[in-house]
Amino acid sequence: MTRDATGRADDRIDTLLQHIGQAPLDPVTGSGPVALPSMRTSTVRFASMDVLDRAQAAKQRGERVPTYGRVGLQTHEALETLLCRLEDGQRAFLAPSGMAAISMALMACLSQGDHALVVDCVYGPVRYLHKTILSRMGIAMDFVRADLDSLQAALRPETRVLYLESPGSLLMEMLDLPALSRWAHDLGLTVVADNTWGSGYIYRPLALGADVSVIAATKYIGGHSDLMLGAAVARDPARIARLHETHYALGNTVSADDAWLALRGARTLGLRMRGCGENALAVCQWLADQPQVSRIFFPAWPQDPGHALWRRDATGSNGLLAVAVDFTEPQARRVIDALRLFGIGYSWGGYESLVTQVEPSALASHGYWASTADDRMKAGTVLRLHIGLEDPADLIEDLAQAFAAAG
Ligand SMILES: *Cc1c(COP(=O)(O)O)cnc(C)c1O
Repeated sequence: MTRDATGRADDRIDTLLQHIGQAPLDPVTGSGPVALPSMRTSTVRFASMDVLDRAQAAKQRGERVPTYGRVGLQTHEALETLLCRLEDGQRAFLAPSGMAAISMALMACLSQGDHALVVDCVYGPVRYLHKTILSRMGIAMDFVRADLDSLQAALRPETRVLYLESPGSLLMEMLDLPALSRWAHDLGLTVVADNTWGSGYIYRPLALGADVSVIAATKYIGGHSDLMLGAAVARDPARIARLHETHYALGNTVSADDAWLALRGARTLGLRMRGCGENALAVCQWLADQPQVSRIFFPAWPQDPGHALWRRDATGSNGLLAVAVDFTEPQARRVIDALRLFGIGYSWGGYESLVTQVEPSALASHGYWASTADDRMKAGTVLRLHIGLEDPADLIEDLAQAFAAAG
C-alpha cells in the first residue's frame, strides 16, 4: 500500500490544503517527514544521456519536466499542484511577485498591435505596466468602468484581452464575472482575472468563466507578511502553452525557500481567511454605528451594493475593507497616526491589521467612485483597513480612541 502525498481528487479543499505536497516516504525505510523540504538547486543531474533525452522531449511537449533549476523541483511542483487545485486549473506558473505574474500573463496573451480592455478598479500598478512597458511594445490598453455598456463602447477590432479584478482593488466592488466572461468569449477575447482577493479559496475566476487567473501569493497564500510571490493559473492547452513559453523566456524563477514558505502558509489559508473575515465583519458592525462613517466597502457587509453578487459567486470573505469617513485630510492623518494596533502600510493578507489612506488621485480615475459617490463621501477620506487576527474587541477599542483623536 502506498500513502500518496497529494490527496485524492475528490477530497474537499480544506483536506487537500493539508495533504497536497507532503514529503514522500522513503522506499527503503518507509518513513519520512511531513513537510517537503525546500529543494534548492540550479543544476539538475541525470542518470544517463537517454534519461536526459527523454526529459528534453517531454519538456518540448510542454510537460513539467525540469532539466534545469529555473522552473524548480518538487517544492515548486507541490505549490503549483496546490494552486491548481485551489483555482480549478491545469497548470500554474510561479513568478517572483504578484506583479511579475500579472506581467507574465499579459505578455503571454498580448502581441504588438493588440488592445486590452482593463477594468478601472484594477490594481494600480497595472496602469504603470502599460505606461512604461506595454505601450512601448505597441500594446494599447483602455481602463474602463466594469459594465457592459462602457466595455462595449471601448471595444476595438484589435481587442484581444479583457482584464478583470473582482472585487476591485480600492472600493471592493464585486463584478459580474460570469456575465463579463460570456460577453468577452462571444467576441473571442481572453479573460484574465486578478484573484488575489479570493486566492482560490473564497473566489474562483476560472470556474466562473475566466481563462487565466493571477494571484499575488504575497497576500493570503503566504499569509505572514514575509514573502513575495505570484502565480498565473490556466486550464486550456493553448493558454498553458503561451504561459509556459513566456514563463521560460522571461526567466521568472522563484526561490525554493519562498515556494516552501508559500506552501507552509497555504496549510492555514482557510483558517486565516475565515478568522480575518469574521473580525472584519465585527469591525464593520462598529463602523456602521459611527456618525463619521458615510460608507463601508466590504462585499460581505449586507448593505454593500455588491453583496448579492458576493453571495452568488464567493464562498467567504477576508479581512480587507475600505471605509469612507467624514474626516478632513489633517483629521484623517491624526486618526491613522493615533492607531496603536494597525500598522501603517500597504499590502494586506497577513495575520496583522494594517491601515492606509486611499490616495485621492487613485479615486479620481475610478468610474465607480465618480458615479456612485455622494457629496458627503466625496468631501471625506477613504481609509483602507486590513483586519487581522487580533481580538476584534481590541481593534474596535483602538479605532474608537483614534476616531476620538480626530478632534
Ligand atoms: C498586492 C497585489 C498585487 C501585486 O502583488 P505583489 O506580490 O506585491 O507584486 C496584485 N494584485 C493585487 C490585487 C494586489 O493586492
